[in-house]
Amino acid sequence: MSLERNLSLWADSVNPSNYPTLDQNLDLDIAIIGGGFSGLWSAFHLIAGDPNLKIAIFEARHLGFGASGRNGGWVSSDYPVSKNVLTKRIGKNAAAAIFAALKASINEIGNFANEFAAEANFTSGGSIIFARNPGQVTRLKAGEDADHRWLSKSELAEKILIADSIGALHTPASAVVNPMELLLGLARHLTKKGVAIYENSAATIADSGQLLVGSNLVRAPRIINGVEVFRSAPREQIPLYSLMVATEPLSTQFWREVGNIDRATFAEGSHLINYAQRTADNRLAIGGRGARYPFKSKRSSAIENSSKTHEALRNLTRRWFPQLKDIKFTHSWGGAIAITRDWEPYVRWDNQRGYGELGGYAGDGMTMTYLAGKAMAAEVSDNQSEIRDLHFVNRRSRNWEIEPIRYLAINALVKLTNLSDVEERFTKKPSLINRIIEPVTLR
Ligand SMILES: Cc1cc2nc3c(=O)[nH]c(=O)nc-3n(C[C@H](O)[C@H](O)[C@H](O)COP(=O)(O)OP(=O)(O)OC[C@H]3O[C@@H](n4cnc5c(N)ncnc54)[C@H](O)[C@@H]3O)c2cc1C
Repeated sequence: MSLERNLSLWADSVNPSNYPTLDQNLDLDIAIIGGGFSGLWSAFHLIAGDPNLKIAIFEARHLGFGASGRNGGWVSSDYPVSKNVLTKRIGKNAAAAIFAALKASINEIGNFANEFAAEANFTSGGSIIFARNPGQVTRLKAGEDADHRWLSKSELAEKILIADSIGALHTPASAVVNPMELLLGLARHLTKKGVAIYENSAATIADSGQLLVGSNLVRAPRIINGVEVFRSAPREQIPLYSLMVATEPLSTQFWREVGNIDRATFAEGSHLINYAQRTADNRLAIGGRGARYPFKSKRSSAIENSSKTHEALRNLTRRWFPQLKDIKFTHSWGGAIAITRDWEPYVRWDNQRGYGELGGYAGDGMTMTYLAGKAMAAEVSDNQSEIRDLHFVNRRSRNWEIEPIRYLAINALVKLTNLSDVEERFTKKPSLINRIIEPVTLR
């Protein structure tokens, strides 16, 4: 595990959690490994179904050490694979069921946050993916549907003013949060419901199947592994890095000019993924991909903090908002996301072994962890629930290629993705490079 601290704006803005370290053997009904949203939402749904369950969560470092405490705070209805691709893969009804469940999950997370984690400032402002060249317009318009409406240049400018933007795809089904505050509010709620939380308590499952936390034995007939990208399964999922920067709080005058009063999350519709939010304290927090994939899927703190990628994000901020050319950036950080070969998440439960795992959210985990945790709880408790029929429950993606093919191919794709954006800027048409690499990336 990386020894890096969580350097995110969010970690910097909260009082650190201080749960005990396990120092004795323990008997439980259910043990959960991992103190991120996968682990905590699984516990949330389990204890809601049966308040008498004896559940404990074990976190190796501290709550939110992983992606849950470092992310862009988009609580979106996005699935890692686009609606069009998913519909082709599994059919209209099965795809629609997933997107409907994601939309419902946003509301449920909002209800929870408003009641138990007000500090997370959950705000349902929708989401805007804007175009800054005609190639992006063509691609974004292909995503128009009942939930995603096209905004003209002037309609967009009424919502948010971004330099050279010429239109946008807008969806109301999206919200924004401070993810660390949401996680800590969730932890407080779980503790009140009787769920035990242990920090600095790394868990290992011995070959015998026994669960060890430090040198303590934890006897639990059911174990949920919610460590996502920290799970060592190099051909099942790869770590890719997403990095972020945040500015100092920006002036009232800047926000008066730019708008975005309802704190809609926003991004440019480029091939290289980027994402931004206006924070509750009026900063810009902007993230994006582009950092290289580490050989043999070995997590790397050097890539997590790539100064080149951080600088690219600062430049992106200045391109969108030229008036910020002298602004101070106060935070820069990064984290790994887990990507399966077909970019789809997994929730797997083996009743005979009493063991389950969930993850593979590919950077869309804020809503998916809630839904995956709910599906996991239904599986573990063997509840009759439609959620167990969702396509990502109890399935396995095919394996990633062996090294060094994986390393060479993925890093070539990262570079080509960048080039596709340059091509679109110059040709003003959807990228030909992307048309060639799209079937390989399988998104
Ligand atoms: C920079 C960045 C931006 C992102 N932006 C967004 C966004 O805006 N919207 C969105 O939907 N998603 C986003 N994501 C993805 C999202 O954050 C993740 O999908 C989600 O947080 C995964 O949650 P998790 O609980 O599965 O994993 P994690 O949050 O990584 O939690 C796993 C935990 O397990 C712990 N652990 C590891 N090994 C052990 C062990 N042996 N014993 C005990 N504990 C262990 C780790 O310390 C960690 O705390 C982003 C991710 C990153 C990195």
